[in-house]
Amino acid sequence: MTKVEDAPVTEQPFNALQFARDLERLRADLEHEANPYMPIEHQSAASAALLIVINELTAGTDHTTAVSRATAAYKDIRGRQREHEHSTRAQQERDEAELAAEEAVTQKVACPYCGAEVGLRCVGTGRSGGIRKKSHADRFRLARGLNDKAPDPTAGDVR
Ligand SMILES: [Zn+2]
Repeated sequence: MTKVEDAPVTEQPFNALQFARDLERLRADLEHEANPYMPIEHQSAASAALLIVINELTAGTDHTTAVSRATAAYKDIRGRQREHEHSTRAQQERDEAELAAEEAVTQKVACPYCGAEVGLRCVGTGRSGGIRKKSHADRFRLARGLNDKAPDPTAGDVR
């Protein structure tokens, strides 16, 4: 196998066909990684920026404009990713606070299902196999006095 010399990019490319093929492959990869239809957290800001540079330069745009368009797109994607991370974290914190408040009420009674005592969490593993975060449903209902009452769907006032 002979080593391909660096093509003189500014002059006529040594092998135009190879150049076009390589460029096409690179573009396809970048388009995949920067796909704007993917969830924002899976988009690559750097790939989007490089794709813009390549597209602009091959379209004859001057290099300052090409690079500034690329950096603008990069900043936009990174900004939206940070926003997404913040809102995801805020949502997690709200969920955890809600669960903690719910558990504080539930753990005021012993669990009729697994026998966990008052103030202790239920025994067993959670759905993902880790420590169980939520009490058993029977304990939840017991703590709220829902067990003896057959829920009447027409009542609309479940205590
Ligand atoms: Zn339990």
